Amino acid sequence: MTSAAIARLIDAAAAAIRDHAEELGALDRAIGDGDHGLNMTRGFEAIVEQRAALADLPIATALQKAGMTLVMKVGGASGPLYGSLLMAMGKAGEDAPLAERLSEGVDAVRKRGKSGPGEKTMLDVLVPVLEALRVGPADPVAAARRAADAGLEATRAMLATKGRASFLGERSVGHLDPGARSSALLVHAVCDVLEGRS
Ligand code: ADP
Ligand code: MG
Repeated sequence: MTSAAIARLIDAAAAAIRDHAEELGALDRAIGDGDHGLNMTRGFEAIVEQRAALADLPIATALQKAGMTLVMKVGGASGPLYGSLLMAMGKAGEDAPLAERLSEGVDAVRKRGKSGPGEKTMLDVLVPVLEALRVGPADPVAAARRAADAGLEATRAMLATKGRASFLGERSVGHLDPGARSSALLVHAVCDVLEGRS
């Protein structure tokens, strides 16, 4: 991956989070403590500050460093979880195909979060996206977008059994999960870059 492509990925991801920080905060206010927009913005702005250095690195190393930044800069549950995702995606190596890279990342989130799909978390977007890519679709970008949107929407009916939202029990039902929303935003941002749209 070229330096320019890494820089575009960083900018697109950070812009998606920045432009939806209010929405992420509102979703988290409904079933958590309201800080998801702030947490994600803090983390991704810190990555933007390192853009020049990150873009000069091989993608595997850049992902690991960006992941470490999220772990260090983000206080909430989402920092270590997204940090683990990116670090493991980097550890997959320089030439790993996207599905394999994401698979390593998702495994790391599952381990770190002691969680799996169906618990109303970011995994309800990340796992369907991974499954969509694994079958080798003709149009991987379209398949990833569709899986992210469907996965996000499915969190509305779910009962949260992990993270702060689980404290609400039945009252968590009927709301989108904030981390699933941020994951969907990030998937769309990556898709935009892969399609050459940003
Ligand atoms: P906090 O919950 O500490 O306030 P955030 O609000 O930034 O942190 O992030 C909340 C999001 O993190 C949730 O919406 C959910 O998607 C995700 N999350 C929380 N706990 C877990 C877990 N154990 N496994 C996977 N994702 C989780
Ligand atoms: Mg929160």
